[in-house]
Amino acid sequence: MENFVIPEGLRTWAEIDHSALRSNLALIRKKIGLAAKILAVVKANAYGHGAVQTACTLAEDTSIFGVANLDEAREVESAGTGRDIMLLSPCLPGERAEAVGAGHIVTVSSAAEAEAYARFGKVRVNFKIDTGMGRIGCLETQALLEFQRVLQIPNTLVHSISSHLPSADEDVAFTSSQLERFANLESQLRLLAPQASFHVLNSAGILTQPIHAREIVRPGLALYGCSSVSEFSPALFPVLSWRARVVQVRNLPAGATVSYGRTFKAATPIRTAIVPVGYADGFPRHASGNEARVLIRGKSCPVIGRVTMDQIVVNASAVPEICDGDITTLLGSDGDETITANELAEKSGTIAWDILTGIGRRVARFHHGT
Ligand SMILES: *Cc1c(COP(=O)(O)O)cnc(C)c1O
Repeated sequence: MENFVIPEGLRTWAEIDHSALRSNLALIRKKIGLAAKILAVVKANAYGHGAVQTACTLAEDTSIFGVANLDEAREVESAGTGRDIMLLSPCLPGERAEAVGAGHIVTVSSAAEAEAYARFGKVRVNFKIDTGMGRIGCLETQALLEFQRVLQIPNTLVHSISSHLPSADEDVAFTSSQLERFANLESQLRLLAPQASFHVLNSAGILTQPIHAREIVRPGLALYGCSSVSEFSPALFPVLSWRARVVQVRNLPAGATVSYGRTFKAATPIRTAIVPVGYADGFPRHASGNEARVLIRGKSCPVIGRVTMDQIVVNASAVPEICDGDITTLLGSDGDETITANELAEKSGTIAWDILTGIGRRVARFHHGT
């Protein structure tokens, strides 16, 4: 399972496999060819994997790190990789001076926003165009005019021009139309800013339409070994395994009910194991009653009753030899069985991004294969 010793007194932890991280990075490189640069998205503590350690490993083939805010930028900078950092989300007015001073690449949606940064000194900007995400960015109909204004702002260097795909994993037709509209704008904007790089592909885009890589791609989830496009999942290696120790084994008689709301009733006598992980650790409460499972001694054990804040109850009747302190796998492999972030996400009505970034602070992180 792990190639390092987990203290017997540790209740729950995540094992981060850096050789898997490297394999996923290499797969992305293979998909996009040698020309494009990789902007590795390490926001939200590298999707829960640990920003500093993840950045150190990914730096091998990463030109730029993508983060959501200044706190994350500071943390990634402390890894000392020397790579550029791009702030993918807008800054608050009160954050702009630091962003410029630190030399980060900032994302802007308008000339006015670029100007607000340039007041504090020389700044590199990523001009974002909204081609269908409807979140940040300049509306595509105004992009040409707005971009011409950006070019006139002193102290401003256009690092790149980008857009974002809202449905690369579920709507091929819309994504194709979006990519085509972006390409039309691109041909005009390249004439105005020949030095600028273009980028639009997130993980799903890289896996399904790598031909649109251009100068930069922005993978997040795929680096961590998950894909929302199921045909690509087998090629990726899940980086994070989440484990916990059984804290108590019990026998319940037929008719016993389990957890808040008494939604589970034992039809026969069962052996239960209490696993000291709950929704406060990021084990989704919405997994309650949806056939979520964990692995103990390589066997699948269903989570029964409602997920509570600090504990879950599992039916461990399939593991008669179970003991207090046994290792439980919540995500990852044990023997021949594997639970993926996609599986737990499906069982709880959410997405793998939410599962990974939701793993909480009580879960210690162990890095191996670095
Ligand atoms: C988070 C993010 C990404 C990465 O998305 P994945 O689907 O995880 O690959 C790429 N681009 C932007 C602008 C983002 O905010």
